[in-house]
Amino acid sequence: MPLIELNNVSKLYGFGDATTIALDEVSLSINENEFIAVMGPSGCGKSTLMNLIGLLDRPTHGDYVLRGRHVSKLRVGQRAKIRRDMVGFVFQSFNLLPRLTVIENVALPLYYRGATLGRRNKQASAMLERVGLRDREFYYPRHLSGGQAQCAAIARALINNPSIIIADEPTGNLDSSNSRLVMELLSDIHKMGNTILFVTHNPELTRYATRVVYMHDGAIIHDEQTAIGEVAATARKIMFTVPTKTEEDDLAGVSVLMKNVPDATDAAQSTDDKPAKAKKKPAKSKAKSKRRGGKK
Ligand code: ADP
Repeated sequence: MPLIELNNVSKLYGFGDATTIALDEVSLSINENEFIAVMGPSGCGKSTLMNLIGLLDRPTHGDYVLRGRHVSKLRVGQRAKIRRDMVGFVFQSFNLLPRLTVIENVALPLYYRGATLGRRNKQASAMLERVGLRDREFYYPRHLSGGQAQCAAIARALINNPSIIIADEPTGNLDSSNSRLVMELLSDIHKMGNTILFVTHNPELTRYATRVVYMHDGAIIHDEQTAIGEVAATARKIMFTVPTKTEEDDLAGVSVLMKNVPDATDAAQSTDDKPAKAKKKPAKSKAKSKRRGGKK
């Protein structure tokens, strides 16, 4: 049984002529212990997909089955409970509270669970040890490097022992050595058995992944299994063939991606191991053109 299963999931924002189709009938199946990189240009729906999988939001249409349970129609409180137990989030901007020490930040989810101070400190301290920050427990976030701050945020994401880690551009604000620090930590967590999804614009980081999902215009246009330690084949093409950028291109080199993905306009015929769905419905083209206006 897959851990995560999305069946024709769509997410629409706004209504009438102002409708934006952020996700367009996405189907995706994820097994336990996959390490998935999600790539694609800004505005293609990556964060929306992460938020739906992480139960921060729910689909407008379609079905989401999480560990055998249909979760798309659950009430806010029920969703929050499953989220708390199963999902840890990591964000590009770390989201550490500046007035709390590192250990207090990491212990925060336990506070909301009603754990005693002693238990909170013990667990948070052990988690900081695990991410290599035990000696920074009583620092404030502003006294950490970017990489250390992100490792602290990862410790906080892990404190409830979730099986899924969702990291939306975890290295987006980091230089290459801090990015490596963070990715190696995620890699260790993956080895412990967690399922990890991370958004990245950097093809190099697909080295850490076991699978890469490429998105465009709210759809998955390509889905590729990849060996840990190697840049994924399609990502490598993006990396080496991104030409002089035009207005249309963004960090992910979308026009190159579209050229390199086998028949990107009909990824359902992709020769790779995972089926992907990308066929556009002409009737939605009006709304789609609105999406090009950009993000938020
Ligand atoms: P990405 O993460 O790939 O940059 P997003 O998932 O953030 O893309 O956004 C996908 C599309 O949905 C974009 O066109 C964006 O403007 C739109 N969108 C995202 N969130 C909202 C929202 N809360 N309200 C309206 N439109 C939104």
